[in-house]
Amino acid sequence: MNANVDAEEIRHFDQLAQAWWDVHGPMATLHEINPVRLAYLRRHVGNLAGLRIADVGCGGGILSEALARAGATVTGIDLATDAIAAARQHAQAEGLDIDYQAVAAEDLAARHATSFDLVCCMEMLEHVPDPGAVISACATLARRGGHVVFSTINRNPKSFAFMIVGAEYALRLVPRGTHEYAKFIRPSELAESARNAGLAALDVCGMRYNPITRHASLAPRDVDVNYLMHCRRGPTE
Ligand code: SAH
Repeated sequence: MNANVDAEEIRHFDQLAQAWWDVHGPMATLHEINPVRLAYLRRHVGNLAGLRIADVGCGGGILSEALARAGATVTGIDLATDAIAAARQHAQAEGLDIDYQAVAAEDLAARHATSFDLVCCMEMLEHVPDPGAVISACATLARRGGHVVFSTINRNPKSFAFMIVGAEYALRLVPRGTHEYAKFIRPSELAESARNAGLAALDVCGMRYNPITRHASLAPRDVDVNYLMHCRRGPTE
């Protein structure tokens, strides 16, 4: 198995495999933020129809399916094999043709460099031992001039209070043990890793989530907790 993987993380997401498509279950927040993520992609990438898209760390395919419904040709990868199995089963039931593979980002990049118009890597970097290697693999997967969009969680006292104390303990919005504070990533760190991988970080945008109304929205200037980053691979690199 690829060295850049935390077996405990994979076990955690495999255990939840049957719950990916329960919109009221433990993955509810991913379903609730999904339209906001799509809006961000449309705003920065444009029309998604016809694009070749890689969804890195796709889990049960919540984002992959939305991208396929938007008319994209989607490859979804994840190392949680039970999640991939659940993703395949759900896509088939929905009549969606999505190429799901249980491979590491680094391995897909070795086989399919420069192949995708857009690479999405959402809520995944905060679960891997070496996010820089995944960021670099995402850059390699993108075609020259192609788009790479990340989303992850900032690291500061507020994000600790919201994502660990609030979301996992007080409100039980996400299963306990989902997130580890030390793995959260500051926007400056993500931008630097992106630059090191040959990507230009063009935009950073916060994503707010109201736990009472369960409503998510883009908040361009509030990157304190959840945020997205739009990058592009250089036209000649
Ligand atoms: N991107 C999806 C799922 C996010 S949950 C969405 O936003 O809807 C985080 C996912 O990252 C899980 O499915 C987990 O299995 C996956 N993951 C964690 N470490 C990984 C690794 N090293 N390689 C590939 N996927 C990984």
